[in-house]
Amino acid sequence: MTLLEEWSDLLSRRPTFLGPLAVYQALLESWARWSGERLQPLLWTADECENRWRREIPLLSEAEPRIPATDLEDPLGASLEFLTELGGHEDAVRRFIREWDAGEVTPAMLLPTRGRIGAPRLEESVGLSPEVVAFLACGALRPMLHAYLADCRRYLTDRSWILGVCPFCGAPPGFADVTETGQRLLACHLCGAGWAFPRLQCPFCGHQTPKDLVRLDAEEKEEGYFISACRKCHAYIKELDRRVRWNAGSALIEDWGSPHLDLIAVRAGYWRPVPSLIQLTRGNT
Ligand SMILES: [Zn+2]
Ligand SMILES: [Zn+2]
Repeated sequence: MTLLEEWSDLLSRRPTFLGPLAVYQALLESWARWSGERLQPLLWTADECENRWRREIPLLSEAEPRIPATDLEDPLGASLEFLTELGGHEDAVRRFIREWDAGEVTPAMLLPTRGRIGAPRLEESVGLSPEVVAFLACGALRPMLHAYLADCRRYLTDRSWILGVCPFCGAPPGFADVTETGQRLLACHLCGAGWAFPRLQCPFCGHQTPKDLVRLDAEEKEEGYFISACRKCHAYIKELDRRVRWNAGSALIEDWGSPHLDLIAVRAGYWRPVPSLIQLTRGNT
């Protein structure tokens, strides 16, 4: 199933969310239209990948792709349109477009780097919030990064990588799956990869003390869905136990389709580095 098909499947399961989630449709359509014909994928060997992973370096940080700005304009335009429709981001969108058109903001500035998403300049001089930068990075880069890094995915093993950021692009995780074997797989929304990570460890700060790792429950509990939050860094991640929900969509779709869980986490005072509709709707730009 394509992401678009999974999305309409999810909306049919959650008809009450049709209105609020409608903004995602055009973005997913722009991703489906994206053509990677001009992109040269990263064709590293297993050794070349493992060499970086052993040194705890995501592949992208030593293999930055050349991204012509025109290749990103469709998904980037759809992402900016998303923010405009959502409301509260008009000034940020205007400033971003002005700088982009002047060539002051380039595609490379949206890439994840150590400990953050996007170049500091986007916050400092364009005046975007970290949430908006992370959203634009995901919205604009996902089809490109997915295609660029796809060939290297087969080399990742359970033992290749120990960090809480994506071994391929370096972004923090956007969702987690508990697989049929009970393993926790973190999901990257920026490039679509997944990687194994201990269940009793915070992916965002590495904290492992059980009493600080809490589970937040929804009022109306849906079996299989839960929120893991960390009392040390106050970040959270939504998780889905695939042993209970074998027919659920992929991580990105399930994440976007469960804003009610983000609301619970936000109200409890927790945050996430890759924003959901809820963080973006709060609208501070
Ligand atoms: Zn990634
Ligand atoms: Zn933490």
